[in-house]
Amino acid sequence: MDTSNDEATGPAIEAFPAHEAVVGGGMTVRRALPHRLRRRVGAWCFLDHYGPVTLKPQDEGMRVGPHPHMGLQTVSWLFEGRVLHRDSLGSLQRIEPGQLNLMTAGRGISHSEETPAEHPPGIHGLQFWIALPESRRHGEPAFDHHPKLPDIRRDGLDMTLIMGEALGERSPAKAYTPLAGLDVVCRDVGTRRLPLNPAFEHALFLIEGEMTLEGQPMAPGTLYYLGPGRESLALGNTGHARAFLLGGEPLKEDVLLWWNFVGRSTEEMQEARTQWQGHAARFGEVKGYDGERLTAPELTTRLKTR
Ligand code: MN
Repeated sequence: MDTSNDEATGPAIEAFPAHEAVVGGGMTVRRALPHRLRRRVGAWCFLDHYGPVTLKPQDEGMRVGPHPHMGLQTVSWLFEGRVLHRDSLGSLQRIEPGQLNLMTAGRGISHSEETPAEHPPGIHGLQFWIALPESRRHGEPAFDHHPKLPDIRRDGLDMTLIMGEALGERSPAKAYTPLAGLDVVCRDVGTRRLPLNPAFEHALFLIEGEMTLEGQPMAPGTLYYLGPGRESLALGNTGHARAFLLGGEPLKEDVLLWWNFVGRSTEEMQEARTQWQGHAARFGEVKGYDGERLTAPELTTRLKTR
């Protein structure tokens, strides 16, 4: 098995265990992307799975103070709970399960995320980043809320297409490279084949319950990379289960991730860091968040794409 680079190698299945990370509010998450040996799936370059946890009355829940982004889209998708988003464009948007918050950073934006005072006890969700291509990454920042997304019922599966195109449907959420993001809930017990776009590389991540992938049990907290060139996928279950399928055309650009930025060079990252620390207009200002803005770490090494 050659996992020494991100190049397309055909329809293999490779298992990449997520690692744990701690985010604002002290919540532990499973970070499935980037992985040292698998940095992206299409343009999807970051995936955190958090919860399910039940908050006690004294718990703060999610509290991520104002911080900047550039060169990416943030995709927020909930299974349980409620999140309040504020950004430097003046957006103030609550999301609930089944709704999508999509923030397109372009050349620069800042935002905060918090569990609002009024909230259900559970927290469970996914946070993704999608790398923007060269043609969009220097453009204007934008924020969109999508309360209604395509529901696809097929072969005992209840699916929601949150981004891109799959199974003949298209999400209203704007993507800048060909991709797909599909929430897959097993309504009935069984095994079925789900058609895939062979031009995309895909990956599957188990969210809850037990499922099989091509007849093999899926481990929790593991990203199963499926490669490009695959026409379909066998999914099996014996009880309630949920997984998330992500896919996209392999990105032809060398992309760097550092802190909350996606860029192409160490110099770009240094410039963005200096501008954020110096309160430059580029990243704007988040109003109304009751807490401190985040401080960028030092950047002391040269970043490498490999
Ligand atoms: Mn963020």
